[in-house]
Amino acid sequence: MRKSLRLVFGIFVLSILFVPLRVIAQERAVVLQAATVLDGRGNVLHDTLIVVEGGKIARIGGAAPAGAIVYDLRGLTVTPGWIDTHAHLWWHFDNGRLAGKDEPPLRAMLHATDNAIVTLSAGFTTIQSPGSPEDKELRDAIARGIIPGPRVLTSLEPLTEQSGPPEQLRELVRERKAQGADFIKLFASKSIREGGAQTMTDEQLQAACGEAKSLGMRTIVHAHSAESAKAATLAGCTSIEHGAYVTDEVFSLMARHGTYYDPNIGLVLQNYLENKEKYMGIGNYNEQGFAFMEKGITIVRDTFKKALTHKDLKIVYGTDAVAGAHGRNYEEFIARVRDGGQEPMAALMSATSISAASLGLGDRIGAIAPGMDADIIAMDGNPLQDVTAARRVVFVMKGGKVYENLAVKAKRQE
Ligand SMILES: [Zn+2]
Repeated sequence: MRKSLRLVFGIFVLSILFVPLRVIAQERAVVLQAATVLDGRGNVLHDTLIVVEGGKIARIGGAAPAGAIVYDLRGLTVTPGWIDTHAHLWWHFDNGRLAGKDEPPLRAMLHATDNAIVTLSAGFTTIQSPGSPEDKELRDAIARGIIPGPRVLTSLEPLTEQSGPPEQLRELVRERKAQGADFIKLFASKSIREGGAQTMTDEQLQAACGEAKSLGMRTIVHAHSAESAKAATLAGCTSIEHGAYVTDEVFSLMARHGTYYDPNIGLVLQNYLENKEKYMGIGNYNEQGFAFMEKGITIVRDTFKKALTHKDLKIVYGTDAVAGAHGRNYEEFIARVRDGGQEPMAALMSATSISAASLGLGDRIGAIAPGMDADIIAMDGNPLQDVTAARRVVFVMKGGKVYENLAVKAKRQE
């Protein structure tokens, strides 16, 4: 007994001797000098500096601490890292075609890693991935810091109307949580091409979303038709994805219930059309399908315009990025403002603080404010005046670490 106590005490002494050295090394302050900061909550700050310590924003303004590493971002526009609430990191091309299940898993992992890297380089420091069991390894590897990439939240395998009756769905929700899912993804309707009719029953939705809520988990629901979006809203689900045929009545209902809306108007369909030959002939990617996608661009844009008239509706920023779209997640912002008529500041808040809140991370990411994680990017140009500035992200910091820096030299504060 004595001996083991002495051992424990010895380890304790050793740990207090050595741990502080590591902490001190990590906590050298980093300072970002900025002329224009869009804080993600609707405010514009001028001529200030952001002090980052221990991966977090310690303070804004004042003087740079002695010894700090200083990045001069004054020629750029600084914003929080952007968030994509709907991106499929595992979708990729291999040898010019959409990769399938027969691809060697190691190669698939490298493609997914590539997608993660280009997504982070584009200024997206957090993404939500609806539905892939492989996400877990990638998410955890990025979190450990061994692969550069955005923070990943995953649902692992999604649930559908075929997953079973209500009781079984409840069990599957508990199983996903035990497997390490961050949220639950449900398919409650057919595709946009098939009119998006409701597939899961009201009872199935109530079971899945109710069980998830009782476990403190969010639910995001693929729902195109008005009735499927309505059923998911009434079942207390967190977010409606796509929603191509949602009506004014259901948008009002969603606004009243605080249900998030995730339209995808600027990247996914355009990307399919741009990469038609890489998809053509695989699964249901056929001529008929591609002919519909052109119409689909107008359908989702008009529904988005309708959504914008509902001032209390919380609209998040998801692209539904698939193979060919990763690293271009900013196109959604450009389409929203240019084609959808959204105010640039509103679109920016959607991609930052509103999406963060929808992920249950509103107190950690999506804003430049003291105490927040230091997820900070800078772009060449001001996206409020020129939406294409979103394509020119030249500086990316995630959790206080600089991952991309194409523009500025660092110096040591005297
Ligand atoms: Zn999707």
